[in-house]
Amino acid sequence: MSIYTYENRAVAEVRVAMKSQKKWVYTFREGSREMRQLLGGKGANLAEMYNLEIVVPPGFIITTEACLEFLKNGGKLPDGLKEQVIEKMRWLERQTGKKFGDPSSPLLVSVRSGAAVSMPGMMDSVLNLGLNDDVVKALGALTDDERFVYDAYRRLITMFSDVVMRLDRKKFDGVFETAKDEEGVERDSEVSANSLKGVVEKQKELYRSLTGSDFPSEARKQLITAIKAVFNSWNTRRARTYRKLQGIPHDMGTACSVQTMVFGNLGRDSASGVLFTRNPANGDKKMYGEFLFNAQGEDVVAGLTTPLSIQDLRKEYSEIYRQLSEISDRLERHYRDMQDIEFTMERNKLFILQTRTGKRTPAAAVKMAVDMVEEQLIDREEALMRVNPDQIEKLLHKQIDPKASKTVLAKGLPASPGAAVGAVVFDPDRAEQLVKDGERVILVRPETTPEDIHGIAASQGILTSRGGMTSHAAIVARGIGKPAVVGCEAISIDLKSRWFTVNGVSVSEGETITLDGLMGEVIRGEVSLIEPEVGSGLGTILGWADEVKRLGVMANADTKADAEKALELGAEGIGLARTEHMFLGIDRVRVVREMILARDVENRRQALEKLLPLQVEDFKDLLRVMDGRPVQIRLLDPPLHEFLPNLETLLEEIHELERTSSDLGKRREKRELLKSVRRMREANPMLGFRVCRLGIVYPEIYETQSRAVFLAASELKKQGLDPKPEIMIPGTIHRTELTYLKKLVDRAADQVREETGVEVAYRYGTMIEMPRAALTAGEIAKTVDFFSFGTNDLTQTTLGLSRDDSQGTFLPIYIEKGIMRKDPFRTLDLDGVGKLIEMAVDSGRLGNPALKVGICGEHGGDPDSITFLHRAGLDTVSCSPFRVPVARLAAAQAQIDEMRGTEELSRFKAIQEI
Ligand code: PEP
Ligand code: MG
Repeated sequence: MSIYTYENRAVAEVRVAMKSQKKWVYTFREGSREMRQLLGGKGANLAEMYNLEIVVPPGFIITTEACLEFLKNGGKLPDGLKEQVIEKMRWLERQTGKKFGDPSSPLLVSVRSGAAVSMPGMMDSVLNLGLNDDVVKALGALTDDERFVYDAYRRLITMFSDVVMRLDRKKFDGVFETAKDEEGVERDSEVSANSLKGVVEKQKELYRSLTGSDFPSEARKQLITAIKAVFNSWNTRRARTYRKLQGIPHDMGTACSVQTMVFGNLGRDSASGVLFTRNPANGDKKMYGEFLFNAQGEDVVAGLTTPLSIQDLRKEYSEIYRQLSEISDRLERHYRDMQDIEFTMERNKLFILQTRTGKRTPAAAVKMAVDMVEEQLIDREEALMRVNPDQIEKLLHKQIDPKASKTVLAKGLPASPGAAVGAVVFDPDRAEQLVKDGERVILVRPETTPEDIHGIAASQGILTSRGGMTSHAAIVARGIGKPAVVGCEAISIDLKSRWFTVNGVSVSEGETITLDGLMGEVIRGEVSLIEPEVGSGLGTILGWADEVKRLGVMANADTKADAEKALELGAEGIGLARTEHMFLGIDRVRVVREMILARDVENRRQALEKLLPLQVEDFKDLLRVMDGRPVQIRLLDPPLHEFLPNLETLLEEIHELERTSSDLGKRREKRELLKSVRRMREANPMLGFRVCRLGIVYPEIYETQSRAVFLAASELKKQGLDPKPEIMIPGTIHRTELTYLKKLVDRAADQVREETGVEVAYRYGTMIEMPRAALTAGEIAKTVDFFSFGTNDLTQTTLGLSRDDSQGTFLPIYIEKGIMRKDPFRTLDLDGVGKLIEMAVDSGRLGNPALKVGICGEHGGDPDSITFLHRAGLDTVSCSPFRVPVARLAAAQAQIDEMRGTEELSRFKAIQEI
């Protein structure tokens, strides 16, 4: 039986009728700034300006819904749209007293794209629609300016061929360039009318030869095909790529504005320009802009001719300048933000073509936000939302001079921001030595291990060919504020010959390179750097952030210097002190090796005894700097083989010794070492004998470390300080591990109390970094005072992806193919790891209502992750010292978002900065 009954048909017909009545087109009067989803940013702002009685060229807007419907229907305009456009064109003709496509009084229009979220230059527009051979002739006579008219015509043919027909624009531009050469002129505006007539004819011929048909002379056809082209430009490759990079959804569509053309190229009393209501580079409260006489807007943007400063307009056109200043002020006050305004002067009459929130540098963003609060334009909350947390770290490090030219050799992961220049060195010992001799060096390694720390500390920056954002090199570099590019797979390092090659270029030890840790770039030679431009504004913003935020912000810091930096940048304590980092340095590694290679407990204890006083000093440093603030000290975590030499290197060394040396004792010693290295080798070290497994199998290690903590704290207490040590157990998978280790730590505390007579209060906690720990958090919480999510390992173990390898290999491809939206090692995988965190927080607090919960994985400094962690109810986040300001601001924004209920919207704010 057919289901296409009479009723169904009737319903379908009503639907069609309703659809055809849908409003696809709005006049400016009908719109407002609130309608940016429907009318696009440009359209909504044109409507707003129209309603503010600012002179904009008359026009109307076709909605984003029309675009989406068009794209959904495979390029067919939705029902009723064409009719509505034609009706509005008639209305526009009445408004202007001109007629579209009619030579007697021709109306010309522009068709421009404009999405709800700013995507500058990513989509297409077509200008000067409505010109054809007849109109051009008539218009030439009417305006008495043939040159201008033919220039407009050649621009239309070029744009239409490019944007609508997708022909090779260079060919059309080439015709014009040839004419310029033939006439012997440099500037576009110097080409004569006759020559332009020739250009138009040749371009039309070219169009014919490429398409097999004539350039469309019918104005309405030009218009409708241009509208379709603007809609299609939503899906061009560059637009899609831009959206992907900026995290803008693909299902928003673009609106399309149709506007009467105004001309900035009608002679010396005409001009086109752009202005910012404040200086976008440094934030100064002074109108800043550029313009060109006798030019269309695209000429200013194209940068082929150097524009004049907006202040130059004042000299010749003081009234226009006055109007511009007044509009600039009004729009800024109205929008309560810096505006980027496009204008045209046509025969000494001013038109505003567009206003939008202006992009700005991070330094300008901070200054404007603070200034606008002082000017009572915005309140503090708004100011906090105006600064992109991710960008403020830029203000704390040196950067590459944006004006400098550079040869980029390769790109890797931007592991630690800042820029560094130095001579390439492949060996940490040599790096240290050269620095002592007064050189600046960049340490280049396939990857770094804790053994390389002295080389890292000595160098200006670090470059590795392997490893991810949570690799050793990345974490250490971020911690100490050194620029680093890691996982730069394009470079191939030959440690023996001391060079690396990249795309056919080879760079030897001693040659200078520059690293840009913010962009992940490896640059040949020395590029000039600029100092950070941090002013008092950042301090003001961060002070306001602290008043608003709920999350506490701590720092991951292992040394006195890290701790001091962290405190200076506003950390409220230390959320992770990785004690293994303290075992580094040549002297200590030797003792650590003794400890690892010890054949029995006694020997191990002897080695540990040597480490004890060193650790006591380390802990005293941290506790003293953070006096009165919590310091979470994590007991030893990494696989022990990390402290042993690399197997391949050791084999090479033995081979060399056997060839060249007769020292039998030395050979035996190396072979013994080789045996131990082999014995300790694991197939999966990250899933092997590490974390608290070390403390359970070799309790003397954790005993000594705990003892060092309590000794350090008692000494400081005796000095009248207020140390707040917290002991943190890494990698727990079982509650019983924690109960076992708690006894051990308590014992150490009791012993120290008996020896020193000083009672040290301490808190006991665990990292949650394995899925089983998250799943059994309710039980685990009963044995501890706090949790700290180790999301580097938790991501690795939940996704089953290696934190050291996947970022350099398949993850970028996953992201490019849209399989994953973001790198899970940078921004928390909310659906997977996020769920485990939420579960563990809830069940942990059920198990122990007094439980404090934090995070110390790298995600603790990532603004998007912080938004989530705030909502998940964590108490603190901990991140590297230089991320502390980022986290403070992100935490404040998360709180404001929660109060306003606008989490989604504020994510788009990130697009504001350049
Ligand atoms: C983690 O795993 O998130 C963590 C903080 O520990 P580490 O990076 O030292 O393994
Ligand atoms: Mg870990």
